[in-house]
Amino acid sequence: MSILPSGGPRLLLRQLREVMAEGAGGQARLDKIVRMIAANMVAEVCSIYLVTEADVLELFATEGLNPGAVHKTRLKMGEGLVGMIAETASPLNLSDAASHPKFAYRPETGEDPYRSLLGVPVLRAGRTLGVLVVQNRTHRHYTEDEVEALEIIATVLAEVIASGEFSVEDSLAFRRRMGPVHLHASGLADGIAVGEAVLHEPRIEIRQIIAEDVEAETGRLEAAISDLRASVDRMLHEIEFNVGSESRDVLEAYRMFAHDRGWLRRLREAVVTGLTAEAAVERVQNETRARMLRSRDPYWRERLHDLEDLANRLLRHLTGDVETAAQAALPENAIIIARSMGGAELLDYDRKRVKGVVVEDGTPVSHVAIIARALDIPMVGRAERALERVEPGDLVALDGETGELHFRPSPEIVKVFDEKLALRAQRRAQFHALRDEPAVTLDGTEIALNINAGLLVDLPNLSETGADGIGLFRTELQFMVAPTMPRLAAQAELYKRVLDEAGPRPVTFRTLDLGGDKILPYAPQRLESNPALGWRALRIGLDRPALMRYQLRALLRAAGGRELRVMFPMVAEVAEFVAARELLHKEMARAQARGQPLPVMLKVGVMIEVPSIVWQLDQLLPICDFVSVGSNDLMQFFFAVDRSNPRLTDRYDLLSPPLLKMLHQLVLKCETLGVPIGLCGEMAGRPLEAMALVGIGFRAISMPPASVGPVKLMVRSLHAGELQTVMEGLYDLPDHSVRAQLAAFAAERNIPI
Ligand code: PEP
Ligand code: MG
Repeated sequence: MSILPSGGPRLLLRQLREVMAEGAGGQARLDKIVRMIAANMVAEVCSIYLVTEADVLELFATEGLNPGAVHKTRLKMGEGLVGMIAETASPLNLSDAASHPKFAYRPETGEDPYRSLLGVPVLRAGRTLGVLVVQNRTHRHYTEDEVEALEIIATVLAEVIASGEFSVEDSLAFRRRMGPVHLHASGLADGIAVGEAVLHEPRIEIRQIIAEDVEAETGRLEAAISDLRASVDRMLHEIEFNVGSESRDVLEAYRMFAHDRGWLRRLREAVVTGLTAEAAVERVQNETRARMLRSRDPYWRERLHDLEDLANRLLRHLTGDVETAAQAALPENAIIIARSMGGAELLDYDRKRVKGVVVEDGTPVSHVAIIARALDIPMVGRAERALERVEPGDLVALDGETGELHFRPSPEIVKVFDEKLALRAQRRAQFHALRDEPAVTLDGTEIALNINAGLLVDLPNLSETGADGIGLFRTELQFMVAPTMPRLAAQAELYKRVLDEAGPRPVTFRTLDLGGDKILPYAPQRLESNPALGWRALRIGLDRPALMRYQLRALLRAAGGRELRVMFPMVAEVAEFVAARELLHKEMARAQARGQPLPVMLKVGVMIEVPSIVWQLDQLLPICDFVSVGSNDLMQFFFAVDRSNPRLTDRYDLLSPPLLKMLHQLVLKCETLGVPIGLCGEMAGRPLEAMALVGIGFRAISMPPASVGPVKLMVRSLHAGELQTVMEGLYDLPDHSVRAQLAAFAAERNIPI
């Protein structure tokens, strides 16, 4: 005897639709649903368990078991067969349930007589909402078709539960299920934020689950699949000429899935059973997700991201929802949640409304983190499975310093965060009071504190922080946020406004530092296996001198009659600097020949971020006006550690003897040859690291604007000479890091770090 209903799942789905159309309360509807499934599937028992609190499954409705057990029988995730189905997110098909080692007997349910059991998870968007079970008295093995039928019903149930189709008590239960979640993520941009979750890639709402007309649904699915294939092919074609946000690998994976017979067959079958095309995509995706997550092969787990994206694209083709989160109306206090995000994508958002950012990957020196700090938006990264645990509109609290992240926090936690916010406001006021005070150590050493900038929105920070100048103006940011390549006039206009705003304070413009992870959506891209070591920054500038000369022309035009400071990124050898400077001289000569006003003073500098140049200082320093250490890249190349790989973030420490020793030797060399040296990597923005830099001998550093206050406070409490002596004893230690020694030095002297 089959438990399949005589009319197949379609009949059952039709009946389900009728039940849902009735105006009955949630519990009554659930009771009806289990009765209906049991009757139609010739099962003696049908039960629904829902996850009510973090990791607890509660019996919500049953036909066949003791009704008194409803809302009483509870199992932890992983406990008993039901808990196991929920935990593994996969079906369980047993002809003799009681003999399974996981079987947990619950006398109150009266399930003794039932031998066989088929249970399927109720899944939605990668989460287990509950478990749907049927049981029979006889020893029987349910067929594949029967498993499939129950899974389809579970898909419908999942949508019903999630869309709040149940009445208050059930949706309350659903919300309880989505109880508070606390994650220890990594702090990427300092600050506290409490706000409303906005998904960077919005989930697509499925409005109708059960098909009215199967033929029509099949037609919609086929049309959407062919649109999808065409769009993937188009993207692949375009990538030959243009940079897209997707790399070729990802697109190739898309194409593979878009033509995968198994995937397409399952989609078609799901529609034939009576689901709408959208619900079919969701259902097949749930099943595939569960299967891929069980796979131990990291390749498959990685591919899951691609398949999820593809399924989302297919849903977009079906629903016509094309708006991105950045284009949609944002709440006043949005916290953007993303799997991963590029710097330019963050800049797409309305900055005033974005109060925080959460990414599942991310490192402190990834560009999105740098931009978050530049915009003073608190951000946390490495938030594991964040997207699975949050719903749009959920309350989110995050601490960008400690990495604490809360979804749906309790009022007590919100209070703690509000207090933190108030404390920060107080500290800000304290920093603000220091704004016009000099950054001078207790023993009278002046330290120039500059800010890093790159966009017009950064400029007010100069006066707000009381910084001495702009130590690093990342000119590529203008290129990254523009829809097309900024023209000469637009470049010159930006530089001019920067210089106007800065007034007497020096601004160091860095020429375009593109490539690596700084990609332009409109420029040609060559795929590289090691982009960080690839065709980037000055390498592009020297190979494409027209691009570089345009920028230099714009800088000269903006700085006519004023001082101009230009520095070149990623200089690996003196010859590169000489070639770059030559282009600048050509532009100077051109401007002069045209009678344009020239800068009254021109200073040309070099970023020290590729280790090789450190061994050519004797040749470099006599011919350049200043150098600035780019500690983000220098660290990356020094330790051979990809700055954008979250797995390696904690592997090496900036405060390690070899790195500090190299910096120290660099400073000594610059002192000997009389060339000013600064540092403009993220390292300068953290008070303890900044303290070490002062100890090494740096007298000018450049940092994210929000760091100026805390660093100034540190400087003003420090005895630089004493630290310098202490540090002499640290350079040659065999230690992994001297962080502890430096922190102890600060603690003993009450230096705020
Ligand atoms: C650096 O590498 O330290 C730096 C300041 O430049 P960017 O972070 O823009 O590469
Ligand atoms: Mg760099």
